[in-house]
Amino acid sequence: MTTPQDIIRRDVLSMTGYPVPDATGFVKLDAMENPFPLPEALAAQLGEHLAGVALNRYPAPRPAALIDKIKRVMQVPAGCDVLLGNGSDEIISMMSMACAKPGAKVLAPVPGFVMYQMSAKFAQMEFVGVPLKEDLALDTDAMIAAIAEHEPAIVYLAYPNNPTGTLYGQEEMERIIAAANKSLVVIDEAYQPFAQQSWMPRAGDFDNVVVMRTVSKLGLAGIRLGYLAGAPAWLAEFDKVRPPYNVNVLTQATADFLLDHVDVLDAQAAELRAERTKLAHAVGALPGTTVFPSSGNFLLVRVPDAAATFDTLLTARVLIKNVSKMHPLLANCVRLTVGSPEENAQLLAALKLVLK
Ligand code: PMP
Repeated sequence: MTTPQDIIRRDVLSMTGYPVPDATGFVKLDAMENPFPLPEALAAQLGEHLAGVALNRYPAPRPAALIDKIKRVMQVPAGCDVLLGNGSDEIISMMSMACAKPGAKVLAPVPGFVMYQMSAKFAQMEFVGVPLKEDLALDTDAMIAAIAEHEPAIVYLAYPNNPTGTLYGQEEMERIIAAANKSLVVIDEAYQPFAQQSWMPRAGDFDNVVVMRTVSKLGLAGIRLGYLAGAPAWLAEFDKVRPPYNVNVLTQATADFLLDHVDVLDAQAAELRAERTKLAHAVGALPGTTVFPSSGNFLLVRVPDAAATFDTLLTARVLIKNVSKMHPLLANCVRLTVGSPEENAQLLAALKLVLK
């Protein structure tokens, strides 16, 4: 008899997968989704558009018209190409797979987005986490020293970072990019709609930099579409490990349609930025809290007791993320997604039950 224990890699057997809790019936403020639906009239038009999509054929492997539209709408610089993924998660996994020479390493500041580390491990690469400073600022000198020591294949810099919300300084990033001249530097701009600052205009200025984005936080988390902008020479290599037909026809057609209406999504992001400011003030006024400045659609908050805060909110049917076990720097920290005004009011009311 053969069992999984006989066949599956030892490190996989001892892994736990990416945790996604069941949020049915909860105010869902754990995963940085945009809370606003599409306006009804636009949703109806999208429905008509999707009705015309041929479901019997495989999707175009490199949908030229969609890629051109992304380049134009997202202001990808001339000379850069765009590679599509089933979410940016899949792009991370393609980059890991393509770079996973024996002994190759992945380096990123920690705490950071967990998939950099998980994906490196899936590809049997060592992950080097460089701790942020006590105030969650980038430790540029430590990053540069670690890059010199480990010569990583990939360096991830999330701009802004998740779960801290920090937007690293341009000059610090430039120093890291210069120091990482034997690495590929991936600037992850998942939260760009809320940061309003971007490396995209400079995506073609460095030999070793690519810029990764997603439509998830912009309001389209359900369609799973990420994109990588950079020099064609890099993208052509990642394209070789791309699963065939990775971006399905409905996703392609939805993105193609909604990119003509991106002003609607941009307006929602603007509303969420205003809500972020209001929520930060309100949460900061509760006893015992420290709210870290955020350039994302979420707030990192230190509370007296993260587990009690999480549990009280859960009982009040509000789902947030307790990140306190992620890293010692995040002791007693929770991450709150910025929701709609109604959701944020429910969140605040629930927080007041425990922070008093
Ligand atoms: N990068 C960062 C920094 C993220 O926080 C996330 C999602 N939490 C992703 C990438 C993945 O996004 P996607 O939905 O495109 O896979």
